[in-house]
Order: sequence, then C-alpha cells, then structure tokens
Amino acid sequence: MKKTKALRADIVTIFPEVFPTYLETSILGRAQKAKLLEVKVHQLRKWTHDSRKTVDDKPYGGGPGMVMKVEPFHEALKSFKLRGKKTRVILTSAKGKIFTQADSKRLSKYDRLVFLCGRYEGVDERVASKLADEELSIGQYVLTGGELPALVMLDAVVRLRAGVLGKQASLDEESWSDGKTREYPQYTRPEKYLGWKVPPVLLGGDHKKIAEWRKKKMELGTSS
Ligand code: SAM
Repeated sequence: MKKTKALRADIVTIFPEVFPTYLETSILGRAQKAKLLEVKVHQLRKWTHDSRKTVDDKPYGGGPGMVMKVEPFHEALKSFKLRGKKTRVILTSAKGKIFTQADSKRLSKYDRLVFLCGRYEGVDERVASKLADEELSIGQYVLTGGELPALVMLDAVVRLRAGVLGKQASLDEESWSDGKTREYPQYTRPEKYLGWKVPPVLLGGDHKKIAEWRKKKMELGTSS
C-alpha cells in the first residue's frame, strides 16, 4: 500500500511557547505520531542580528504602535529552502481574505505550509506583497497575534489529509463541505434528559426516514 506523505507545517512566531499543548493533543498529536504531520515552530527572533533581537520598528508615516520588520521573515523563509516543494506561505492577517472550508481543502493538497504570525500593529506590507503566497484572516475581528489563526487553519487543513480521521465518509457530510450546507443535528444517549427528547425519527431504525430527516435538516441549515 502507498504510504501517505506527511504534511510539513512551519510556524514562524515570536511566541512559540503557545503551541505545544494544542499541537500535542488529540487528532493533531496523533497525526504527528502517525507521521502524517510534521510541525516545526520557529522563533522569529532567531533571524535577527542585533543584541536585543529586534523584530519590530516604528511605522513610516507615523501612527500608533510598532510594525513587524520584513527582514526576519525574509531570512526565515530563505532558511527553509522552499523551492521545488509544493509549498504555500500564508501570512496571518486581520485584513486578509477570509479563510473558509474551501481553503482548507485547497491547502490540504500542499506538501508544506508555512504560517507567518504577526503581532503588534501588524507586519510590514512587503511580507504580504513580496514573500507570502496569500494573506488569510480567520474572521472579521482583530486578535492580538497570528498564533491562534495559524493553529485554526492548520487544524482545519490537517483533518482533511488522508488517514488523519478514521472514517473519510463523515467528511462529506460535515458543515461547509460543499461551501454552504451545515450538518444535521446529532444526538446521543440518553434518549430523554430533563424532559428534552431526541427526535423520535432517529429512534425508529428506519434508515430511509432518518436519511430524509437529515437531508431536510441540512437544507434548513439550522439546529433541531
Ligand atoms: N493593525 C492590524 C489591522 O488593523 O489589521 C491588526 C494587527 S493584529 C493586532 C496583530 C496580528 O495578529 C496580525 O498581524 C495578524 O498576524 C494577527 N491577526 C489578528 N487578527 C487576525 C485575524 N482575524 N485573522 C488572522 N490573523 C489575525
């Protein structure tokens, strides 16, 4: 049987310490143990050359806060020697294109993903225009850094890679799998809790009726 290739993910950040717990837990942890995923978290300050390991500076034109410099990101990317690999460099950015399930699917086809995490007032625009392949946002709000967005996107991508989730069929019925539908409501035991009942159709064992009910619920796109 053909061995599934591992997805390699590189995350560049000034806060590498926020990643281990999430990456080692549950599906992402198992994917790494099964050699379906390899993640390297890099300290951006490694690619600075001054004693204070400076990664930011004042914005040209004035304004509040600090902007992350282009050079450390550029040097980080150069050190990864990405040429020739099926690679995508993603800049996390509040003003980027909104990340969707379609992007997860698209990105799950790459061999290597690099996530660049911004902080402060953001990142010198030349990182987006000259270095990154795309600038992605996880929603219309502003977070303090790109670390959570990188984890969100990586998580959504990894679970679509072959072999990571047991039953492939469940992926086709998941919310947003075709860009619009939402999964039908799910229930488990007990059948009745505090007077809150499971819909009787799910208890009858009539698979045709259950499939019809689920289809209807998916079309409605709402719960219960
Ligand atoms: N001044 C920027 C703006 O108004 O767009 C926000 C900078 S934010 C405080 C710092 C960093 O957090 C960004 O450079 C980006 O890496 C990350 N970030 C914040 N919100 C994000 C979002 N919704 N999606 C992806 N990344 C985000």
